[in-house]
Amino acid sequence: MSLNHLQKAQSDIFPRLEGSTRLNVKENVMTATTPTLAPWKDVPQSLFDNHAWQDKNAIFRVPQLEEALEGTVSSTMIGEITSAVKMVNMSIRLTPYIMELIDWNNVEADPIRRQFLPMLSELEPDHPSLVVDSLHEREHSPVKGLVHRYPDKVLFLATSVCPVYCQFCTRSYAVGGDTEQLQKDKVASANNWDAALDYIRTHPDIEDVVVSGGDSARLKPANLRLLGNALLDIPHIRRIRFATKGLAVQPMKFLTDTAWMDALVEVVSRARREFKHVCIHTHFNHPREVTPMVEQAMRRLHADGVFVRNQTVLLRGVNNDAATLQDLIKKLGRVNIHPYYAYLCDMVKGTEHFRIPLHEAQTLEKEVRGSTAGFNTPLFIVDTPAGKRDVHSTEAYDRNLGISTFTSPAVANGKLHHYYDPIRSVPGMSRDKWIAECAGQGDLRAA
Ligand SMILES: *Cc1c(COP(=O)(O)O)cnc(C)c1O
Ligand code: SF4
Repeated sequence: MSLNHLQKAQSDIFPRLEGSTRLNVKENVMTATTPTLAPWKDVPQSLFDNHAWQDKNAIFRVPQLEEALEGTVSSTMIGEITSAVKMVNMSIRLTPYIMELIDWNNVEADPIRRQFLPMLSELEPDHPSLVVDSLHEREHSPVKGLVHRYPDKVLFLATSVCPVYCQFCTRSYAVGGDTEQLQKDKVASANNWDAALDYIRTHPDIEDVVVSGGDSARLKPANLRLLGNALLDIPHIRRIRFATKGLAVQPMKFLTDTAWMDALVEVVSRARREFKHVCIHTHFNHPREVTPMVEQAMRRLHADGVFVRNQTVLLRGVNNDAATLQDLIKKLGRVNIHPYYAYLCDMVKGTEHFRIPLHEAQTLEKEVRGSTAGFNTPLFIVDTPAGKRDVHSTEAYDRNLGISTFTSPAVANGKLHHYYDPIRSVPGMSRDKWIAECAGQGDLRAA
């Protein structure tokens, strides 16, 4: 059923509810995903709901996209998308499930489309200080595939593939296929985990490992088991999080890939027996992503004792209003996903159109906090090369130049780091003016 059909059905059921009351009703309606687009409209629901079928039929080339949208979306709109794909740093990859979650009748404004498919009309010239690797992860990488920025935790880049590719990916320097604009670093694959594991073994201060990439859902079951057990074998490792966007973009993975689920549950159960903690970190950005199938997947994970936290990215045109964020965190709470972080979009090349200014994130935080359980209210974070900082914890904030300053005593003693608001949001500012007024102040990325 398309979104419009659902909304129609809803107004048939609740004909007298209008205005704000309607909003509450809408909150309880979850969008089901059924095959309707040309390439798979005759595929039975049971096959569509299979993770392997979803992988096999993922869309990653422009001709496939054109074929899928022909007859549904105007050729002008298709052209808007295909020309933009050539200009961006992320390659495209969409599961049929996500293709069906997009409201193609409202393609320009649709918050799901916006995350995974660029359009020419929305791209903006980058702020002068946007770079490919804004968190300087490659400088904090003691061995290939490992980022060690914080005293007691590391980021383990286990793979460079994901079930979908997000246009705003922080790790666009390594994740996804090469694009016409960007050649990717080859950092991660199961063949070169040994050096990273050795580094962790020989650094007893490390207690906490974030297994990411890339996406943990792309690890083969045997490799997931191998990595989980190798880390649990290390006495000083207390916590492991497997990061996956799979739950939001391919929830059937958790229902039909029994081999992968068995491997995950085995590692989680072993950790529990050993008084350690293994959980999943996932990535939902919009309330419409919390579908009935996500609920089914969460019922399965919950029954198997797997705890799930969510990390949202604040994205202009996707979720940068309080009502959408409140709806998102309430829906996540109802399916036992814990809203953990809401990040400002990192200062990565090609993401200018997604970014919001710091003061908008501060306002959103004030509007969201108090609307539901405190433990289900995310921390609003700006990430810097010195680590994650609360959006309210600025040392200074010059709104006229759009420059905020942060420091992180526990990570980089005394060093100052800046976040730069998008040029569009600074009154009277242009890209050239910003360069003229601010470029003389030393290294723009980390003064
Ligand atoms: C975000 C991050 C972590 C985990 O940080 P938490 O605040 O504990 O979620 C670890 N290492 C790196 C490099 C990170 O960027
Ligand atoms: S799922 Fe995460 S790592 Fe993969 S493309 Fe999206 S943001 Fe990047």
